[in-house]
Amino acid sequence: MEKVQGLQVYKFGGASVKDAAAILNLRKIVGSHSGPLVIVVSAMGKTTNALEEIFDLAYHGKDYADALNRVEDFHRNTAASLAAGAGPYMMDDINEGFRDAFDALEAQLAVVSTLKDYDEQYDQVVSYGELLASEFVAHVLNDLRHTRWLDCRSLLRTNESWREAQVDWQATEENLRDKVLPCFQQVRTIVTQGFIGGTADGRTTTLGREGSDYTAAILAYCLRAESVTIWKDVAGLLNADPKIFPDTVRYPEISYRETIEMAYYGASVIHPKTLKPLADRNIPLRVKSFLDPAAEGTLIHDCQHPALAPAFIRKTDQVLLSFASKDFSFISEENMAVIFAGLAQAKLKINVMQNSAISFSVCVDYSERRVHQLLDLLRAQFTLHYNTGLTLFTIKNYDAASIARLTAGKRLLLEQRTRHTFQFVCQD
Ligand code: ASP
Ligand code: MG
Repeated sequence: MEKVQGLQVYKFGGASVKDAAAILNLRKIVGSHSGPLVIVVSAMGKTTNALEEIFDLAYHGKDYADALNRVEDFHRNTAASLAAGAGPYMMDDINEGFRDAFDALEAQLAVVSTLKDYDEQYDQVVSYGELLASEFVAHVLNDLRHTRWLDCRSLLRTNESWREAQVDWQATEENLRDKVLPCFQQVRTIVTQGFIGGTADGRTTTLGREGSDYTAAILAYCLRAESVTIWKDVAGLLNADPKIFPDTVRYPEISYRETIEMAYYGASVIHPKTLKPLADRNIPLRVKSFLDPAAEGTLIHDCQHPALAPAFIRKTDQVLLSFASKDFSFISEENMAVIFAGLAQAKLKINVMQNSAISFSVCVDYSERRVHQLLDLLRAQFTLHYNTGLTLFTIKNYDAASIARLTAGKRLLLEQRTRHTFQFVCQD
């Protein structure tokens, strides 16, 4: 079988499964769709953050019992509410699925050790958020549509770049063709996890924070799905985050290219890697609100449209790193090659960069551990200064008024302008 006719991929993020009521709302949305579906689920609410903290405590030999109890209680209470809402016959199933996943998480935490790679072990632990949430979703859908829960770790094959694993497209496509497509002869719904994958030898990997959108795109690409819908708590793709900027406008229709750029600059609505696989197979992406499922949302596809309203994108928790060569020599291509190699090794990704005669500056997402790793790598050759607690603003399709509005009253530490994009770094 090459493809399933009319197959769609629905992705439900953390906010759309944040509690039992949200999961029952998901059930309603799925219930009103009649065609075959692959459903990709993120961890509930802020569970991934909680698991990151628990893992870090465990790794450093600290007591994580309280933090783990909170995550357990939260999921147990959700299981109880779902079981109550769904009818007693499901209670055992839901509780059993939850218990098995939680036992496995506890066993995993018990073997976390400073002797092993931090990032590798992170993936083994933090992946449980999605495993737990997808159990719940599969159970509440099962009496509505014939549903099968599948473990994405055995479908989505990746390399061993822990915490930002790279997809092995060929193996993944084969897995999906051989293991997922035939399921549609028996069921109409597959529920699986976003964010997580697995290596050839069966270890768990993750695709990077907020990576569930990317999972939806990978699955859609490999299954040659008809479309992907990302269900969010906003009305579609907006020109700014409504929690931060007033007067947002929704783009009803937008091209892949514009969206890729916005996601790259940090628009939090879609994970930046999501668009390419969809564009490659011309699969349209809809962004819709789970709070108002009948509303139009945004359609992202291959289209032409007139110039868009300026988009405002804010990235917080930035660090500006400036390197100067110790002997005051100019920053040469050779120097830059060393700096880039250091950044790549410390897995720091450049958001903006700028160079002057004797120094080179980059703005990256702040991670204390990674910045120190970089300092260690480059200390011998460069003097390094850095400022933390910064914000990077990007205005895409800017005009004079939008720049004036956003920069007013701010002290700019770095600014840069290209034909369509204006960016600046400032204190929070
Ligand atoms: N649960 C993961 C995260 O919070 C993945 C996702 O939500 O897309 O980063
Ligand atoms: Mg999330």
